[in-house]
Parts: sequence; structure tokens; C-alpha cells
Amino acid sequence: MSTVPLHADHARLFDQNRFVYPVLSRRSGGISIGVNLNPDKVCNFDCIYCQVDRTRQSETRFVEIGALVEELRATLDLVLSGAIYEMEKFRDVPSHLRRLNDIAFSGDGEPTTYKNFDEIIEECVAVKNEVEARQSPGRPTHSSSVIHSSFKLVLITNASMFHRPHIQRGLAILDANNGEIWAKLEAGTDAYYHLIERTPIPFRQILDNITAAARVRPLVIQSLFMRVNGEPPTPAELEAFCDRLNEITAAGGLLKLVQIYTVARRPAESSVTPLTDAEVDAIVELVQRRTGLHAIGYYGGTDWQ
Ligand code: SF4
Repeated sequence: MSTVPLHADHARLFDQNRFVYPVLSRRSGGISIGVNLNPDKVCNFDCIYCQVDRTRQSETRFVEIGALVEELRATLDLVLSGAIYEMEKFRDVPSHLRRLNDIAFSGDGEPTTYKNFDEIIEECVAVKNEVEARQSPGRPTHSSSVIHSSFKLVLITNASMFHRPHIQRGLAILDANNGEIWAKLEAGTDAYYHLIERTPIPFRQILDNITAAARVRPLVIQSLFMRVNGEPPTPAELEAFCDRLNEITAAGGLLKLVQIYTVARRPAESSVTPLTDAEVDAIVELVQRRTGLHAIGYYGGTDWQ
């Protein structure tokens, strides 16, 4: 048996799949089927905590829509039938987590940089609808403890491309199909944003994009905070972070949840280490108090030491 906790095992390759991979997700409280739209590992951010291994080039460079759709169909069948829990990697998943929570567009880069983003969302929605229609509560499964329920589509994004028309089309398709957008926001000031995300994209563009998108549908904000060279974010930075959230809501943006988390696995940069559980709790409390928003904390991984 692996000594790595299941939630930490986010290897992109699932047997022979190149684009689709199931993981046990601690933030989802169940199985999440990841769809990797960036097999070339190219990202328009270069976050200091990123865990994508860019020292090795991937053999798969381009998304092949037909192959991706087939992998998604087969993986959905595997999870929804319960057959996945007979596989060694998923055999130890506790019964309360044996539920499919979502299909998540994430992977080895920023999914909205994929040029056919709206088309792939549409294709995946068609597969979801087709597989869901085939499922029925009475259908026998490989495991009596598998929980059937409707599942959602989640876009995990840095919000950098929301202003592009084909991305807005893709977001609208998500809206119409039980979709949820998790937008990254993990700084309050320009300086800290550039320290963490290391991108030429202006902080203002990210804030404007999140605000505009949140005026159309409620967003989930995902915020990873960490120690950099031993130092957690300063109180002033966290206050500024709350100010940015308040500006979004004051402009009419709807934020249904703020996820506060920290690094769970060892990132490429050795200067990055996790916050303590108490520090995560303190940020959650600050966000709730300063913004009135619903906030949840997720602690660092137990595999850190
Ligand atoms: S946006 Fe995501 S994939 Fe891109 S560098 Fe940051 S953590 Fe890595």
C-alpha cells in the first residue's frame, strides 16, 4: 500500500489516459475527475507554489478532443459503476467519500488558455448528460457503498482570460449545466500578487475579470496562502485581501464561498512551506469577520514532514 495519502496522489496519468484522471479530492469530499486541457504544461502564471513538474517535457503536447471525450466517458463509467473502488489505488477510499463530486477542468496549466475552450466544455457536457442519463438508482453497481448523486462541473482557473469572448461562451455553457467556477485570488496588493503568481498579467485585470464574472453568476474564490522564506502573509496583506473581496461584492459581484487553503504537497520552490492549521483558521475567521462571506479552511497535507 502506498504511504502517500490518497488526497496527495494527484498524478495526472490514470493508467493509459492522457487527459482525464480521477482523484480523491479533500476539497470536494469525494472523487473528482480531472480534465487536463494543458498537456504541454504551459501556463500564463508561474506560481511559486505550483506543483506541476516542468523540468520534464510531457509526451502529449496537444489536446485531442476525440481521445479526451472517450477517456472522460470511460472514467465516468468506472467511477459511477463503483468499479474504480476495486482498483488498488482507490480500494481504501472510505465509504462516505465514495461519491463522484465533479468533473474538474484543471490540470497542468491554466485551462482557459486552451484555444477551443468553449468547444471542449460543450463536448464534456454532452458526455456528462449522456452518462447521467444511463445511470439509474436501481442499476447494480460493483459496490453497495457507492453513492449516486448528480455531480457538477468545476472550472479551476486563475481568471486571466475571462474577458475573451470564447471563454465567456464556455462559462455560459457551464452556467447552464450545473457548473461552478473556482477563481484564484490570493493577494491583496500588487506586490504580493507578483511575488506569488510571477506573471506579467496585471493584478487589475484579474480583479476586473473576477468582478465581471461574479456579476453574472456566483463564484467560488480559491485562495492559497503559505510561508515564503518562513514568513506568512503579513496582517496588512490579509487586510488588503479582504478589501479586494469587499470591492468585488460592492461592485455587484456574488461570491458564494472563499476557500482558504495552504500547500499540501511539496512544491518546486523550496522557499514555500505550509501555514499551520491555526494560521489557516485565523485567515478564515478574518475573512468572515471583514467581508461577511462564507469561508472554509483546508489544512496542509500530513505528508509534508
Ligand atoms: S496557475 Fe496553476 S498551473 Fe499555473 S503556475 Fe499557478 S498553480 Fe501552476
